[in-house]
Amino acid sequence: MSSITDMNHPYVLAIHGGAGTIIPSADHQIEAVYHAALKQATAVGEIILANGGSAVDAVVAAVVALEDCPLFNAGCGSVYTADGIQEMDASVMDGSTLAAGAVTCVRTVRNPVRLAQAVMEKSGCVLLTSEGAERFAHECGIDMVAPEYFANEIRMAQLLRARTAAAGAQLDHDGGATSGDPIDPNQKFGTVGAVARDRSGNLASAVSTGGLTNKRPGRVGDTPIVGAGCYADNRTVAVAATGTGEYFMRAVAAYDIAARIEYGHLSLEQAAHQTIFDKVSALGGRGGVIAIDRDGNLAMPFNTSGMYRAWVREGEAVHTAIFL
Ligand code: ASP
Repeated sequence: MSSITDMNHPYVLAIHGGAGTIIPSADHQIEAVYHAALKQATAVGEIILANGGSAVDAVVAAVVALEDCPLFNAGCGSVYTADGIQEMDASVMDGSTLAAGAVTCVRTVRNPVRLAQAVMEKSGCVLLTSEGAERFAHECGIDMVAPEYFANEIRMAQLLRARTAAAGAQLDHDGGATSGDPIDPNQKFGTVGAVARDRSGNLASAVSTGGLTNKRPGRVGDTPIVGAGCYADNRTVAVAATGTGEYFMRAVAAYDIAARIEYGHLSLEQAAHQTIFDKVSALGGRGGVIAIDRDGNLAMPFNTSGMYRAWVREGEAVHTAIFL
């Protein structure tokens, strides 16, 4: 096993902006907007790694960039609960220490992933929820905003459609209705995530979400659950998930990939593929993961028609992709 202090590991970073039934666009300009947003968020994380920064700081910075982009279901682009408000979840995990921090149901934190990092580093807890999490955010000087900051006409229209369809809670990108857009905002998941290996060989993962459109207030998905939507261990892998959270929780999906590698001695590719296609799919779940193992291998399986994703290896150009 490689040392984590020898600084001779080329860095690797991957991000996702959600998965789902994404319809190829006849208008390439719309796809280009997504590709550009993914590229920009990757660049934000990469600069940290290129300057010798930590995997934790890189994944948090990349996720902050995605939270600040309204195209994705996190931060300012978060979807509405059944009550017409946004409740956001986020988590981060440091593979070098197995330290983790997470928040659920926050409503006035501009960048929930920053709060998750503060929980990991300063609270002595792993998971803080709702008012307690927001009080801790105040204590830490985390950027707070009025709930109106998250107001979003497109998201409200999605909520109204979901209510009309009486379809229960819906994944951001997978609502079943069509808006007429080539990339239908109702046909894709939107949680965001990032995984990285830094030059010291340390792995980290971060994820952030508004959850599901029309979700029951107080509902929490896989995103802030360590081992379900987020996991990182230097000995094996860093994983960030997106999809129908209840299934990823029941499959303990992110940790399942690590366990297949650690105990089953599978390759990253085999482990990630089996978790998504044999375990999550078998339960009825839909979505995907991005994962980087300790050797810098990358896997990004998904069982939907698309997953917004981007990745970069040290010395190479950034790649972006939406479809298979
Ligand atoms: N996994 C998220 C949740 O269930 C949703 C998503 O990935 O878009 O809250």
